[in-house]
Amino acid sequence: MHISTRLVQFDAAPHDPWHPTSTPIYQTATFEQDSPDQFGAFDYSRSGNPTRDVLEKHLADLEGGTRAFAFASGLAAITAVVRLLEPGDEILADTDLYGGTQRLFGRILPRAGIRVVHADATDLTAFAAGVSPRTKLVYIESPTNPLQRIVDIASAAQIAKRAGATLCVDGTMTSPYLQNPLALGADFVIHSATKYLSGHGDVMAGVAIVKDTALAEKLFLQYNGEGAALAPLDSFLLLRGIKTLAVRMDRQQASAQKVAEFLLSHAAVPRVYFPGLKDHPGHALHARQARGPGAVVSFEAASPEAARSLVQRIKLFATTVSFGSVASSISLPATMSHASVPAALRATTAPPRALVRLSIGLEAPEDLIADLAQALEAPLDEARDGRRSASAAVP
Ligand SMILES: *Cc1c(COP(=O)(O)O)cnc(C)c1O
Repeated sequence: MHISTRLVQFDAAPHDPWHPTSTPIYQTATFEQDSPDQFGAFDYSRSGNPTRDVLEKHLADLEGGTRAFAFASGLAAITAVVRLLEPGDEILADTDLYGGTQRLFGRILPRAGIRVVHADATDLTAFAAGVSPRTKLVYIESPTNPLQRIVDIASAAQIAKRAGATLCVDGTMTSPYLQNPLALGADFVIHSATKYLSGHGDVMAGVAIVKDTALAEKLFLQYNGEGAALAPLDSFLLLRGIKTLAVRMDRQQASAQKVAEFLLSHAAVPRVYFPGLKDHPGHALHARQARGPGAVVSFEAASPEAARSLVQRIKLFATTVSFGSVASSISLPATMSHASVPAALRATTAPPRALVRLSIGLEAPEDLIADLAQALEAPLDEARDGRRSASAAVP
């Protein structure tokens, strides 16, 4: 069945005697056992909870995996995957990654004896050259955040396989509605469900999904053993958000396409990064491996100062980190979401300082475009006014 159907058609309350049509919130820490040596399906909510279980089965189905694990945040999901490695192992990762992932990789994993090697994953030869006998995990995003670069997922899976490593794809930008990395050869797909999956900017959650049952067992040990699983209420909220993923994403990405085309045609915008644009270097590749461009549009303003002034003048776009919500937002990745890129990596992995990232929401696209137009025009007008008043002061 089409994913739009699967998003809303799932067993919301298995085994529930009252047959509710939405999933009950099992707000309980423990489940009573029949006897000390007889265990039911659930015993303790850290290990398993019926509300979270419905969510996890739903997510596994949407990504074509065998098992999904829901965590308290996207970073908790990524952490669980990378904690499967041993001291001495290496991760081969792309150069453009979410800032929090870079902080985890650059400042926390070294303490566990895990080294992360960064190489450009859009250049497969350069990326493959980053493999060493210690490489155990290959880690990419596509499209990347915030530069919207497209990585060939099937080729990255081959590089990982040849190295005897696994591939983890962070699919946050696209969500399972637009792209399914497991079908392209990935071993793990993770999402920050805080973004499109929940879609309303009111839940923090993460998910890791696997196909291989042995990997699922290992990941379950990690999930239960370190205890970062998602709470029942948040599991319910995420389930609720997922039901509207298709309509939200359809509308948001159609508007994003219009916004990207507007920006492309604007004299004050030197570069636009959006995989839905025909001249985007990854346009054809993205169209082969995904079902739509998504709704994040990045662009460069004329200067870092112009980028700052734009953010200050814009009205409809809230200045927030994060993306994927029903309301549009704007951010300057260099000082916001990616400020956490470790200093040693800044030269190769930090976004340009004039980069602006837009998350397109459900507002009418013409309102968003009008707002961007006024915010982009304003500094020029002001400069002109400034000059006029300066010359007026000259007798
Ligand atoms: C936000 C984000 C994360 C981290 O997720 P949290 O839910 O904030 O912990 C990871 N990857 C990408 C691409 C993100 O945008």
